[in-house]
Amino acid sequence: PVEQPEPDPSKKTLVVLGTGWGSVSLLKKLDTENYNVVVISPRNYFLFTPLLPSCTTGTIEHRSIMEPIRNFLRHKGAAVKFYEAEATKIDYEKKVIYINDDSEIKGAVSQTEVPFDMLVVGVGAENATFGIPGVKEHGCFLKEVNDAQRIRKRIMDCCETATFKDQSPEEVKRLLHMVVVGGGPTGVEFAGELQDFFENDLKKWIPEIASNFRVTLVEALPSVLPMFSKNLIDYTEQTFKEETIEIRNKTMVKNVTEQYIEAEYTNAAGEKVLERIPYGLLVWATGNAVRPVVRDLMGQIPAQKDSRRGLAVNEYLVVKGTENVWAVGDCAVANYAPTAQVAAQEGAFLARLFNQMAKTEEFETELATLSEKQGTAPNKDSRDEVFAQIKDVQKRLRRVKQMGPFEYSHQGSLAYIGSEKAVADISWLTGNLATGGQLTYFFWRSAYLSMCFSTRNRVLVFMDWMKSYIFGRDVSRE
Ligand code: FAD
Ligand code: NAD
Repeated sequence: PVEQPEPDPSKKTLVVLGTGWGSVSLLKKLDTENYNVVVISPRNYFLFTPLLPSCTTGTIEHRSIMEPIRNFLRHKGAAVKFYEAEATKIDYEKKVIYINDDSEIKGAVSQTEVPFDMLVVGVGAENATFGIPGVKEHGCFLKEVNDAQRIRKRIMDCCETATFKDQSPEEVKRLLHMVVVGGGPTGVEFAGELQDFFENDLKKWIPEIASNFRVTLVEALPSVLPMFSKNLIDYTEQTFKEETIEIRNKTMVKNVTEQYIEAEYTNAAGEKVLERIPYGLLVWATGNAVRPVVRDLMGQIPAQKDSRRGLAVNEYLVVKGTENVWAVGDCAVANYAPTAQVAAQEGAFLARLFNQMAKTEEFETELATLSEKQGTAPNKDSRDEVFAQIKDVQKRLRRVKQMGPFEYSHQGSLAYIGSEKAVADISWLTGNLATGGQLTYFFWRSAYLSMCFSTRNRVLVFMDWMKSYIFGRDVSRE
């Protein structure tokens, strides 16, 4: 095995937290020769989240959308250190990060600290629960691989338990009621995938459940997918109706117990009603909340005191109130939606910025050396020669320093809505194209296939699609 070299004392230490969309996009484009790069994340892989809903039903196997971080770090020009650990605290004054190995196997050292000169925070967000009682205990989230695995297991558990001998009709109904809370793209895509699973496979393998299996989507706002165009919202709601997914708009979940949720809505008479909705599986997809490590950092920086949704950053993604801390993705507040698209563009921007910063330093050192040389030049000819060199370096330095601020370029929004249909709001030349249906579904498939992290992922996802198409999804409960 190749020994990792010690950090080069002449270079700054750049610590990158997280291995999600923002951090990985930065690492992909970063010239790691310029810094001592340290990556810290509890996850030693990148996860292609747009296809995660497909893993809940086995349309795609989760490993097909995971790419080991070691795979691509080893191709970088200079060694990058990776620690599989969670950053538990960032001490901004001391320029130190406290890390904790939270995995099952622990060595003699499982907690330590990592110093930094420059820091990029790309830790994403956690699941919002709004403090609603029972959500954490009884609901399933859909953010990470283990969430998708847990949901997949539970769907099958509900089906098998519902067919258990002597189960009462009422209990069968409850067990086969799949409730999704949150009508954003996560909730909508999951509901669509689940209904597909039922229509294409479950109904065939377990015909006894056919008359009782139901999917309900609960949304507090007047419609699902509020970020999409009005006609696409209508199209989604109409498609769900045809797929027999019930949408309960303007219904706010207030409490969750092991077997039912309590949701509030306003009835025709204008009265508020609290309804008990029994469920077998509850998937909670109500968006993002700030991670504790980020909240703690915000508390250390006076300029962050008014920020609520994450680290407020300036147009160069510098965390406001700091000089050496940057933030990307869902943990940063830069007035863009918390999406993979934004995080990836922010990461790529930071890579360019850091590459340019290193070049700037290189040119400035070169200029200092040349000025010295000019002062000690023996004659006019050699002084002129050095002068020409200085002019050239100055020109290159000006070009490097000209880097503009981060500008997000929105390529569009895409969501799968079940029964081989998708909706897309695409930025098209000067206008916007809002489209939905089967053709959009093929576009959705090819777009996500092309966006997969690696050729390996692309091949695996394609093979999974073929496998599900030919043999159906696997209904064994692992
Ligand atoms: P993440 O990708 O969440 O990565 C955060 C990283 O930080 C992870 O590696 C995590 O392990 C690590 N981490 C967490 N805590 C710590 C800590 N304390 N210390 C160190 N590391 C830590 N967006 C789209 O644009 N299109 C889509 O189709 C789409 N589909 C989605 C589907 C689903 C099911 C979900 C959940 C999200 C989807 N998104 C989509 C949103 C998108 O995934 C996020 O906006 C994106 O992941 C944000 O990137 P990020 O780098 O900020 O965070
Ligand atoms: P979201 O924030 O987009 O939607 C959450 C929904 O939950 C909201 O509509 C909210 O009104 C509802 N809600 C909140 N509390 C509720 C309650 N108590 N009862 C009922 N409803 C409640 O969350 P998301 O869907 O997880 O998406 C998170 C981010 O990831 C978004 O920026 C989204 O655009 C992005 N994303 C994109 C895609 C895609 O482009 N295909 C897919 C998934 C996620």
